[in-house]
Amino acid sequence: MYDVIIIGGGVSGAASARELSRYKVRACVLEKEEDVCCGTSKANSAIAHAGYDAEPGSLMAKLNVRGNEMMEQLSKDLDFPFQRIGSLVICLSEEEMPGLQKLYDKGIANGVKGLKILNREEVLEMEPNITDNVYAALYAPTAGIVCPFNLNIALAENAYTNGIEFRFNTEVQNIRKIDGGYELCTNQGTFRTKYVVNAAGVYADKFHNMVSEKKIHITPRRGDYCLLDKSAGTHVSRTIFSLPTKYGKGVLVTPTVHGNLLVGPTAIDIENKEGTNTTREGLDEVITKAGQNVKNLPMRQVITSFAGLRAHEDGTEFIIGEPEDARGFIDCAGIESPGLTSCPAIGEMVAGILQEKLGLEKKDNFIATRKGILDPDTLTREERAELIQREPAYGNIICRCEMITEGEILDAIRRPLGARSLDGVKRRTRAGMGRCQSGFCSPRTMEILARELHVSMADITKSGGKSRLVVGTNKDTL
Ligand SMILES: Cc1cc2nc3c(=O)[nH]c(=O)nc-3n(C[C@H](O)[C@H](O)[C@H](O)COP(=O)(O)OP(=O)(O)OC[C@H]3O[C@@H](n4cnc5c(N)ncnc54)[C@H](O)[C@@H]3O)c2cc1C
Repeated sequence: MYDVIIIGGGVSGAASARELSRYKVRACVLEKEEDVCCGTSKANSAIAHAGYDAEPGSLMAKLNVRGNEMMEQLSKDLDFPFQRIGSLVICLSEEEMPGLQKLYDKGIANGVKGLKILNREEVLEMEPNITDNVYAALYAPTAGIVCPFNLNIALAENAYTNGIEFRFNTEVQNIRKIDGGYELCTNQGTFRTKYVVNAAGVYADKFHNMVSEKKIHITPRRGDYCLLDKSAGTHVSRTIFSLPTKYGKGVLVTPTVHGNLLVGPTAIDIENKEGTNTTREGLDEVITKAGQNVKNLPMRQVITSFAGLRAHEDGTEFIIGEPEDARGFIDCAGIESPGLTSCPAIGEMVAGILQEKLGLEKKDNFIATRKGILDPDTLTREERAELIQREPAYGNIICRCEMITEGEILDAIRRPLGARSLDGVKRRTRAGMGRCQSGFCSPRTMEILARELHVSMADITKSGGKSRLVVGTNKDTL
């Protein structure tokens, strides 16, 4: 019998696990995919929002601002990329000014620091590639950009190091109330627990509705993106937003922490909870709308497109806590944007609820820090030469676009909750994320994975399950 089972290894589940690992507790994360960061947490804008968008007084507003405040220290403790670059919401005419003023007022009410409305000249001085039609902008210096993969992975690794179990390829299929807790039926057997944390992203309504009569409803709201090459990465220096609409924050243009330029997303309500395909119409919309705020966007530099699904609950609010009619079941549902920003605060809140309910005691051996994968680029020439002398794998470049070495890939595989697939390596090291999108490095990364995991190349998958890359040999077909 576990004290706590967390369903889902996205940022909500991983942050909750990490905060919970401060206490003496027997807890486990069940994840249906082969790794953490396989749901919405891997496909989003990666912005640490300042917090002027959510309705004052809402949980979303509170956790957004708190999460944004926590992110910088967390990035230092857990060693993942985060940069506080600031953001601008662009206003194109005098008629739009009340909308901008409303955002400013909401930001002040939410406790966002440093907000300023800039005039046209100030905006253009800050960002020369903003459209000449700009009228004014809301400047939020506390907004930032983060690596969503490494944020998620770092939280999970640190939770694991502090004693939280993780079970992958374990899909929760049913939840049943039992004496003193719940029984979770999965494709890997049955698990019993006193408390359940429902952090299942777009599926959180399914689990909530299994145990509570007060039903919730989550719509997957798709966002399509184009990712541009690093040669376009400095086109803007801050995150450039449009004025928000009822469907969200609109199409943005932003640098990423790795030096690319990201353009998107759309906001299209769909039914399929796995529907992360992009569409021609979606990408056309992204390009048109981004061009309204930023001029001369180098769209020929697109290296890939992707889509993510917001877990939009009908009430447009984070649902965190125990439903009145389902004691022992803690929802972490409706975590749409700004969920990534808020995750440190979501984790804190979920762990706080569980600490109180279970009367958990703090551990005295909690390890608060974690070291990320060594990036040889951060070393001096001398340090790098010394590293290669000591560990020659750091002298072997596997991904030529991103200049990722075999040493980094080995580290990604060997570390706690290490990579087991090509995508797992990619999210941890960036091997395959560059201009050629893994055209060159896939077979070489597969070889390393096969060698390290003691399996054949034919067993290596792109992302677990049936996503095998080697499906036969030429000789078989001849
Ligand atoms: C287009 C878009 C843009 C966004 N931009 C931003 C942004 O810039 N800033 C920001 O703060 N937020 C942003 N967000 C929101 C943010 O990405 C999400 O709020 C956050 O990633 C949600 O994390 P999660 O852990 O709740 O869900 P997920 O990451 O989806 O994790 C849920 C996990 O549960 C697992 N799971 C589901 N069902 C089961 C089951 N039956 N058994 C076991 N496991 C299961 C899934 O595999 C998944 O790993 C954006 C979202 C989208 C879609």
